Amino acid sequence: MPTCQNCKSHWSWKQTLRSQFVFDTGMKCPFCNSKQYLNAKTRKKFFLSLIIVLLLMIFPAFFNISPVISVILIFVLAALSLLIYPFYTELTNEEPTLDTK
Ligand SMILES: [Zn+2]
Repeated sequence: MPTCQNCKSHWSWKQTLRSQFVFDTGMKCPFCNSKQYLNAKTRKKFFLSLIIVLLLMIFPAFFNISPVISVILIFVLAALSLLIYPFYTELTNEEPTLDTK
């Protein structure tokens, strides 16, 4: 579970999920109200999972899988990644910059 880099409090699964649904670049710590951001490692994991979902979307075209099943599969995967999201989230105090080294 993520730890606030400002007050070192551990966020619960529910708090992490809730802070995700804020249309802002940062997430507010429920304990100290400081802004927290996803670190580079977490953002890389998100990018990878996005690629996997995209690959799964074109997958049925090659293997003759029914579109209904592939849509269900994508939804299940999206729900699963949302459920496990708080477990691999790591936070940082610094706002991420666009340049990825
Ligand atoms: Zn905090």
